[in-house]
Amino acid sequence: MLWLLENGFKGFTVFAIHNKIISENDTASKGVFAMIFKTTFCTEPAKAFGYNILHNTMTHLKDKVVLITGASSGFGEDAARLFAAQGCKLVLAARRIDRLQALAESIQQAGGEALVVPVDVTDRAEIDSMVQSTLDLYGQIDILFNNAGFGRLDWFENLDPVRDIETQVQVNLIGLMLVTRAVLPHMLERRAGHIIHMSSVAGLIAAPLYTVYSATKHGVRAFTDSLRREVMPFGIHVSGVYPGPADTEFNLHTGSASAQRKFKRITSTRLSSAYVARRVVDLARRPRRSLVLPWWFRLVGGFDALFPALVDAYLTLGFTRRHHIK
Ligand code: NDP
Repeated sequence: MLWLLENGFKGFTVFAIHNKIISENDTASKGVFAMIFKTTFCTEPAKAFGYNILHNTMTHLKDKVVLITGASSGFGEDAARLFAAQGCKLVLAARRIDRLQALAESIQQAGGEALVVPVDVTDRAEIDSMVQSTLDLYGQIDILFNNAGFGRLDWFENLDPVRDIETQVQVNLIGLMLVTRAVLPHMLERRAGHIIHMSSVAGLIAAPLYTVYSATKHGVRAFTDSLRREVMPFGIHVSGVYPGPADTEFNLHTGSASAQRKFKRITSTRLSSAYVARRVVDLARRPRRSLVLPWWFRLVGGFDALFPALVDAYLTLGFTRRHHIK
């Protein structure tokens, strides 16, 4: 696209000289033309604009190096299989190494390529070593699916200050930031890459029981939008993913058995993990700002901004009365 614009502009300059719109010796006019050309097509914002136009074109995934955190189950595991089916080289990261190895074996048996790297995203040294192992083997990271996370859903006064509050912020927000921080310099060096951050619908709207989880996922959304605006001119895509409740092992980690039962009831309509993973792979193929699943949750977020009192009333009644967890 930029090539077309550049050559189209050069062609127009030749046309202008040929038709005596400007004279060949008219260095002042040619200087003005050159200046317009440079500011239109050669500055970083202009390249970003051109880059945005390219957003709607497809990226071929074959041979791309994809690093996935939280690859041992749920969205991460399903996305790994789908990326591998597209011919990507996978780096699978999480704490449960046995699960990662089983996944890597099944990818390899299907003719794919996968490296297993143990990582706890609360440990900066492990994050750095995960990124270094990937670069040592493949020399680059094309796509980062920064997906590891969990939610402890209970009345705020029941949340344990360390296990439920600090650790949740540490994994969902700080861990995600540190992984991106470790990968970004290499993408900047290559002026290419796609960073996909896993937020949640809880990052668009905050409900009772989701206090800390929602705070981390709102944080992920702010970080994602801010970073995208920072690195877009350097050829790097940053996308946020905002799924509603989905069928994964997420529910096993939400809290007490009674909290899990109630959470299941609140979220009786669920997306399948395979569907979310498929949409994430589509997002990698055709990078966009955000992916909200299902799409109409976008409207819920907008409704909250326009009519907060109504949303307060609806969520307070919906969650507090009908689903009191004790
Ligand atoms: P799962 O529980 O199936 O997967 C969570 C993944 O995160 C696991 O692979 C787990 O691996 C990994 N993980 C958790 N803690 C750490 C840690 N400290 N270090 C490294 N990896 C870690 O749930 P989902 O697939 O649903 O969750 C994936 C993401 O999607 C999360 O960020 C979640 O918040 C988000 N999400 C989930 C929704 C849902 O309803 N399911 C809806 C919206 C968003 P291991 O334990 O082996 O380390």
